[in-house]
Amino acid sequence: MPLDAPTYADIFSDATTLGLSAEHIDVWQRKRLATICHYAQANSSFYSKHLRNLNDTVFASREAFATLPRTTAEEIRETPFAFLCTSQDDIARVVTLTTSGSTGKPKRIFFTQDEIDETIAFYNHGMQCLAESGDTVLALLPAPRPDSVGALLRDGLTQLGATPVLNQDPDDVAQSLSLLKAHAADCVVGTAAHVLALVKLWEHAGNKDTSVKTVLLCWDASSQPVREYIAKAWNCRVHTHWGMTETGLGGAVNCAHGSGMHLRESKMYVEITDPETGAVLPDGERGEMVVTTLTRRGMPLIRYRTGDEAQILTEPCPCGSPLRRLSPYIRRIRQPKNTPDWFKDMPPSAIDGALLSIPNFLAQQARYRVSPNRLEITIDACGTASQLLPACTELLRNFVSPLRNAPEILCLPGKNSEKISIGFAKRIISVE
Ligand SMILES: [Zn+2]
Repeated sequence: MPLDAPTYADIFSDATTLGLSAEHIDVWQRKRLATICHYAQANSSFYSKHLRNLNDTVFASREAFATLPRTTAEEIRETPFAFLCTSQDDIARVVTLTTSGSTGKPKRIFFTQDEIDETIAFYNHGMQCLAESGDTVLALLPAPRPDSVGALLRDGLTQLGATPVLNQDPDDVAQSLSLLKAHAADCVVGTAAHVLALVKLWEHAGNKDTSVKTVLLCWDASSQPVREYIAKAWNCRVHTHWGMTETGLGGAVNCAHGSGMHLRESKMYVEITDPETGAVLPDGERGEMVVTTLTRRGMPLIRYRTGDEAQILTEPCPCGSPLRRLSPYIRRIRQPKNTPDWFKDMPPSAIDGALLSIPNFLAQQARYRVSPNRLEITIDACGTASQLLPACTELLRNFVSPLRNAPEILCLPGKNSEKISIGFAKRIISVE
């Protein structure tokens, strides 16, 4: 497992995986947690108050550590500079995150140059599961700045000896298809929705043979029907990646054996917790993912509430890696108060799964209107979308109705120009 070697190097200052065990990782992580908590308490005005009762007994076990208070996105929004542990001169990049539908302040996350370099290294190691030197990798990722996600992946791939090809406007599916064919890409990287749209257009154009051997679905959640559809259409291996800006983009990626994403355990400590109390739950249970960064010097995050519901898989991976694995089934847990029950069971990726059988379906965007209790879905298609709408409505009615209190469903025509309009973001079903 390519992530084992860098993890081992972090823990033992030695680039071999010989002898790396879950116990080594646990002991090392608890030492790092102590170091980073004391560092943050001494250097940041937020943590000096937040961790004022810090006591070394909390590093004795994972359960004891979970008694520390959690950090919220709201606290970062309110006082971002109070999180800084270095001078502003040491900050090489500021990422500003705005939440759609929120009127609150944007969230600002700070990175030092070392931390940006670490992300490039993670992309290099993580991509070794999917590509090798000499391969061509088509990445459907924006790269408007040298330190944007697409540019960092490009640097990681170059370090690996692979050739990166970027489509910086992943909504332009026709452009993705022409790049795929022109470069005979061995590997495709993008959000599940963008890769699915590419596969659908590729099929619609009558293509049969593909050069693609592996696919990495990143940034946003994916559903099993979509992963299976892509794997079957291209006869390729489909990997998933989990990460968020707050974790320095890289987080977890699955190995060649498939299920579950190995965590980058030497950079990040992940807890699955009871969302109410913050208590750590046993591996195997679903709960809110809470993250502590283990090496960040500029803006460390300690017990940061991600708002994502996730699960650590308990069975060992066939690859033998001791790095714990996240289930790929990750969804947002914080919903507005007026969210109906059926809504909680339906992430946007599940709607994609329900519409897969429509031949010219490319992508969709859904929103829920509380009054008149209606789910509205805008369908982007190749060809004329309006002819598909009755079939889409019927599929969704069958899909949504088994969930309680099904709303009215209204499908609307979106674009039909082989350019979709979902953007590069973690999708949500907005509530209006
Ligand atoms: Zn594995």
